[in-house]
Amino acid sequence: MEPRAHPAIISIENVTYTYPGTSQPALKDFSLHVEEGEFLLVVGASGAGKSTMLRLVNGLVPHFYGGELSGGVQVAGRDPVEVGPGEMSDTAGMVFQDPEAQFVAEVVEDEMAFAMENAGLPLNVMRRRVEEALHALGIEHLRGRRVNTLSGGEKQRVAIASVLTLQPQVLVLDEPTSQLDPQSAEEVLDALVKLNKDLGLTVILSEHRLERVVQHADRIVYMEQGRPAVIGEPREVLATIPLAPPLVQVGKLMGWTPLPLSIKEARKFARAGPGVRGQGSGV
Ligand code: ADP
Ligand code: MG
Repeated sequence: MEPRAHPAIISIENVTYTYPGTSQPALKDFSLHVEEGEFLLVVGASGAGKSTMLRLVNGLVPHFYGGELSGGVQVAGRDPVEVGPGEMSDTAGMVFQDPEAQFVAEVVEDEMAFAMENAGLPLNVMRRRVEEALHALGIEHLRGRRVNTLSGGEKQRVAIASVLTLQPQVLVLDEPTSQLDPQSAEEVLDALVKLNKDLGLTVILSEHRLERVVQHADRIVYMEQGRPAVIGEPREVLATIPLAPPLVQVGKLMGWTPLPLSIKEARKFARAGPGVRGQGSGV
């Protein structure tokens, strides 16, 4: 094997996992390595195993769900299968679709302090970390608000900030924008891109609004029937899989190469006119 450029922060080796009461495994001989600082986008049809894969990283699978698991998992030197989601929360922070379901307190600051209180952190550390997490998400102005008065995008950014107070090395998000309006979704996705770029946080994001994130992802994993069917750089993966944001679909139809991932990249093709297919187009 070739030496890796950076050590993997997440190693999943030949994991096969079956939920209780089901006959088909949700993950089949699944292997994946994620590098420190990587932004990994997880896509695939409903039922492909995206959520199951994310739950594996923080130990919810198999601890919370039960079932049968074989193979090995390591996240920042820890084994989530052994230690479970409680202990993993300061290593792999998890954010879900519905921010409301994760809230326990009424006011933003209290919500953010909750996990740290449980961890028994001293007050001065808690205060500093709340400030840092509010700042990282650009939500200092929300600190005193009641969570039930926030917009969906604000709630989800508070949920992310709360998870960050435990200073995890990895942030795992399972379709965090699926319940949000487009404006709110954009706020959340922009915040994630910033956390990855500015803080070097490793981000694993399962998402169906691809247009805001494909140009920022380092790699895309396309899941199919419990396996990483295609994995690689966004441009390569999007060229071969049936899912793509509208702009990329246009680019594929027009035979634009290299395939544009953003409006900025598409502009030169549009300017060149409909007859121009870019260099080396094999479409
Ligand atoms: P995705 O997130 O890509 O939609 P999931 O990981 O939720 O896929 O599901 C993968 C497979 O596991 C599907 O066949 C689904 O029905 C099954 N599954 C998911 N959650 C459970 C559960 N809690 N109990 C039993 N089967 C489940
Ligand atoms: Mg899912």
